[in-house]
Amino acid sequence: MTKYSNSGEHVGELLSGYIDGELTQQERQRVRLHCDSCADCDSTLTDLRRLRQRIGEARLSDKDRDNWRESMDDTTVKATRGIGWLLLIGGALIGVGVGVYEFIITPSTLSFIEKLIVGGVYGGMLLIFISVLRQRLIERKSDRYKDVEI
Ligand SMILES: [Zn+2]
Repeated sequence: MTKYSNSGEHVGELLSGYIDGELTQQERQRVRLHCDSCADCDSTLTDLRRLRQRIGEARLSDKDRDNWRESMDDTTVKATRGIGWLLLIGGALIGVGVGVYEFIITPSTLSFIEKLIVGGVYGGMLLIFISVLRQRLIERKSDRYKDVEI
């Protein structure tokens, strides 16, 4: 009859709780003492610890990968959309600019004033075009926020 008479019993069912810190001090002591003298339970404890660690690492790396993918997607989408708008607006500006320039330098029956008026009309159309584009962009942004709220 010793104080640790039950240290001979295997503690397999306590090991998981031991790692998770869910045992009472008495139970923890029993596991420690038993594992000091029982190679079976000691190796089970080591295996369990490794398993927990691997699960933890897997979860962590999954999260990291998701975060990375999310931020990549976000950046790529923003950059692509930005370049798209830049090309669209830049192309429209150049197209209209060239059109107006050619229209003004091309000899025709129209007087310079008449050309300026027509040029003004095209310029106005361009401004409307740009403002519509801006409006679309703003609407699209607020649509996205609406989606998030729903
Ligand atoms: Zn044991």
